[in-house]
Amino acid sequence: MRLEGKTILITAAGQGIGRASALACAREGATVIATDINSDTLASLAGQSPRISVHTLNVTDPAAITALAATLPDLDGLFNCAGFVHHGSLLELSDEDWQFSLDLNVTSMVRMSRALLPGLLRQAQRQGSAAILNMASMASSIKGFPVRTAYGATKAAVIGLTKAIAADFVKQGIRCNALCPGTVDTPSLRGRIAAAADPLQAEKDFIARQPMGRLAQVDDITPLVVYLLSDESRFVSGQAMLVDGGVTI
Ligand code: NAD
Repeated sequence: MRLEGKTILITAAGQGIGRASALACAREGATVIATDINSDTLASLAGQSPRISVHTLNVTDPAAITALAATLPDLDGLFNCAGFVHHGSLLELSDEDWQFSLDLNVTSMVRMSRALLPGLLRQAQRQGSAAILNMASMASSIKGFPVRTAYGATKAAVIGLTKAIAADFVKQGIRCNALCPGTVDTPSLRGRIAAAADPLQAEKDFIARQPMGRLAQVDDITPLVVYLLSDESRFVSGQAMLVDGGVTI
């Protein structure tokens, strides 16, 4: 199995890509520590695999991160998946909206990575490598999209953070990469579609963004998650890896 013997923590594992990633990593032999702010969705994940343990964690709460980190073994992998889509142009972006997106999409990854890096470094010293994977998006420094000001800017920051961590710790066996999906069919995407003035048209528009003519399903994304957390990607670091159905062709 591709992640045999590895212990991996995932944030936002209650639903969507994070949940599918927890299940995919467990299928590949990893011991998975699945975290989310929502204890109900986590509870429904808990019974799905004996390899998955669940812990409620709000990644914008520094004290909660410190407290959880103190209880954890040294990790082989950290997948910072939590993030939020603010809908709006610059003229619809309040200071509070901006701060919320910055806290959830970027500062949480700074805090999680900083808190767990000592254990990842120890594990890299023992095993030769450990990996951090940060959830970015095709909507970032890679491509601009309408009404995605806070989202695009904060996901661009995730790519910069990823490269900075990769540069600082490459000699110590830490690999750090960013994952950049296209439009993925998840509960929050369904919420964005339902909230549109014309939901049917909104769904068509989301689908039309992909030259491949469909939304991604979560398991179009999880093979890349497994790859980037496994030793198969041992020569890959500091990269923003796209899986976008051809949007950025
Ligand atoms: P989602 O948006 O449907 O679910 C998000 C999860 O994050 C929920 O389980 C929620 O409880 C959790 N969460 C929210 N706030 C949290 C907090 N403060 N602490 C911990 N957990 C919290 O899932 P998704 O659409 O798969 O998105 C996951 C990640 O993938 C996000 O970073 C998102 O930006 C990114 N992404 C999604 C898409 C897409 O089209 N769905 C595309 C590119 C990137």
